[in-house]
Amino acid sequence: MPRILAITGGVGGAKLASGLASVLDPSDLAFAVNTGDDFEHLGLKISPDIDSLTYALAGINNTETGWGREGESWNFLSALKELGGDTWFQLGDKDLALHLHRTTMLNKGKTLTEATEAIAAKLGIRHPIIPMSDQPVSTLVDTCDGELSFQNYFVKEKCEPEVNGFRFQGIESASLQAKLDQWIEGCQGIIICPSNPYVSVDPFLKLNGVKEKLAKIPTIAVSPIIGGRALKGPAAKMMRELGISSSAESVAEHYSAFIDGFVIDEADKESANSIKIPTISTNTVMLTLSDSISLAENCLGFLERFL
Ligand code: GDP
Repeated sequence: MPRILAITGGVGGAKLASGLASVLDPSDLAFAVNTGDDFEHLGLKISPDIDSLTYALAGINNTETGWGREGESWNFLSALKELGGDTWFQLGDKDLALHLHRTTMLNKGKTLTEATEAIAAKLGIRHPIIPMSDQPVSTLVDTCDGELSFQNYFVKEKCEPEVNGFRFQGIESASLQAKLDQWIEGCQGIIICPSNPYVSVDPFLKLNGVKEKLAKIPTIAVSPIIGGRALKGPAAKMMRELGISSSAESVAEHYSAFIDGFVIDEADKESANSIKIPTISTNTVMLTLSDSISLAENCLGFLERFL
């Protein structure tokens, strides 16, 4: 098998990531994860996309809510509410333990990469989960209500304010995590998971030198937009507010400078002809692990055409 890098955000990306991890060995597959959503809350250092991927790969993600851990309890949050604390960000008890543990490790001087590795190992994950950078990058959303930090926009304001654009604070001084740099050096193919192109994938792509590195390696992307809509989250709404038509074609256009192939859902198969990049259509709706595995296999088969 060729050595693959999968670029992912949280929930949407993690679904394909689970499929890829089921068919590729840990020596052949690593994940580059967005950290632009990371933030500090109640003194805790929270990395939502890393955690979504970690829970999904460990098989302990909550498939009903689509976020967080399965079998959660909420004693901490209800006690906090009773005390008049800040409860807009949902923190289950088990999830809280992970954030506390990560924060402790970071405060003792470990890097985010080391903390992520330690947590993943304890949860039995064998594939490398690598934060895009160990230096902080914060996604800021320019909205009609002013500039909002990503979690304020996403969770507190429920993605309601109209979006004008994004800024990735710290991106100029952040460097690609060294392990990712090494992995990319020896890697034969790249898959951009069906994550939000603007807030989950762009922060990684905008790190110094990344686009140039990717341009040298066969790369395919999977559309997170199906039938003009996002299955979850604000991607389609953001596109419309940015004056971009919310379609799989627009996602292909967004990545067009460096991808070799594009994967759209079978519901959009008529659009394949209007996309300038080689495109396949298949079922991309992942409701079960077996859907994720089928899509992973189709992506790997498609990617081989460009190797
Ligand atoms: P977040 O960081 O948790 O918001 O997650 P991502 O950015 O990784 O994923 C959000 C995107 O995943 C949304 O635009 C969804 O449309 C997309 N998505 C979620 N589930 C699926 C799925 O089963 N198939 C596809 N193709 N896209 C999905």
